[in-house]
Amino acid sequence: MQWYKKLHWQIIIGLILGLAWGLISSVSGLNGFTSEYIRPIGSIFITLLKLIAVPLVLASLVVGVTNLNDTTKLSRMGGKTIALYMVTTVLAIIIGLSVVNLIQPGKALPAETQATLMESYRGNVADRGADTLEPESLMNFIVRIVPANAVESFSDNSNMLQVVFIAILLGIGLIHIPLQKGQALIEVFDSLNEVVIKIVDLIMKIAPYGVFALMAAVIVDLAGEDISRAFQLLMALGWYSVTLLLGLFLHVALVYTSLFKMFSKMSIFDFFRAIRPAILLGFSTSSSSATLPVTLERVKKNVGVDEEVASFVLPIGATINMDGTSLYQAVAAVFIAQALGMDLTFAQQLTIVLTATLASIGTAGVPGAGVIMLVIVLQAIQVPVEGIALILGVDRILDMFRTIVNVTGDAAVSVVVAHSEGKLGPLHFDEE
Ligand code: ASP
Repeated sequence: MQWYKKLHWQIIIGLILGLAWGLISSVSGLNGFTSEYIRPIGSIFITLLKLIAVPLVLASLVVGVTNLNDTTKLSRMGGKTIALYMVTTVLAIIIGLSVVNLIQPGKALPAETQATLMESYRGNVADRGADTLEPESLMNFIVRIVPANAVESFSDNSNMLQVVFIAILLGIGLIHIPLQKGQALIEVFDSLNEVVIKIVDLIMKIAPYGVFALMAAVIVDLAGEDISRAFQLLMALGWYSVTLLLGLFLHVALVYTSLFKMFSKMSIFDFFRAIRPAILLGFSTSSSSATLPVTLERVKKNVGVDEEVASFVLPIGATINMDGTSLYQAVAAVFIAQALGMDLTFAQQLTIVLTATLASIGTAGVPGAGVIMLVIVLQAIQVPVEGIALILGVDRILDMFRTIVNVTGDAAVSVVVAHSEGKLGPLHFDEE
């Protein structure tokens, strides 16, 4: 396939053309045209992302939880696996929050630019009444996660945590009834999951146009008054990307390396060498689910993890463990808040830890799923969801990097679990 037919290149082209169009229309008085006819394409794209969020969370989580059925059989291994997945996810978010608070990429934008951006998104915030919301107490926040009416939860994207709650409850209910009774519903969710993933795939096909329109609209909003503001935004995006990549690198260097030091005898470099094809595939497909077969094969054949452990730990990981994605969601949420001139309180940052953990569990291992789930995180901290437009242009490329970390995290946990169960064989390097 020619390079320009690949989606990530098309998105980059969309991004560049969108920037160019935004600048051209600013200097040639076409701002009105851009706002009226091009901006809506971006809005439709964002709306589609919101539309698919509820079914995506519901299907992917119910399927994820029902897959945990085996935990009863393999409860000890299941416990270890889940604990390791949770701990690494929370550490990833803490690393993400640390780097983004330290580097503050969103602050690269001058205050007036932040104000202009906020101005263009304010309507949407006011719509939801978020302007009037005070930061709420942790207890209140927890109380609000439990819905009284499921239909109401599904009807409003800002209740996404309630959807997560319902999905987990449904999954738990399903694994506690006899299989022949639950089978039909499990199959429905399984099939819904497949369909939703396909729809995400279709939405991503129009991403180049969506990104074009969003970038053009952002530039028109900014450069409409002063063209140098457009360049400030690009600088800030550059810093955002650097911050995220640094966070991902630190997570691998600190967390996985320490895990290997503490809980296995394997060197992390040998481990990387053994799983290299899975990493490359993760990078090029941006999908940990699509990479799963290769990850399974390498982990079993080359890393030496016993079949029983690998085929239990890895599929669960591909569904619920996304260290790269959770780190990204933390960095992106804080960056967007910074770019809009919002200072996040400590409670809001704690909310990010909680919601990004849940959001990454609910993220399907397919390209672009992470940015959809970012909606949950933003809504929980009352940052305008429309701010996603700021980062969408670079999102697809960063997706490739966070997927590497997602895939690596699953494989690393499988090594630790196998080692602790005495089921780790010798490393094996073959034809490479
Ligand atoms: N592409 C990621 C994965 O498959 C999910 C995401 O969008 O963050 O692991």
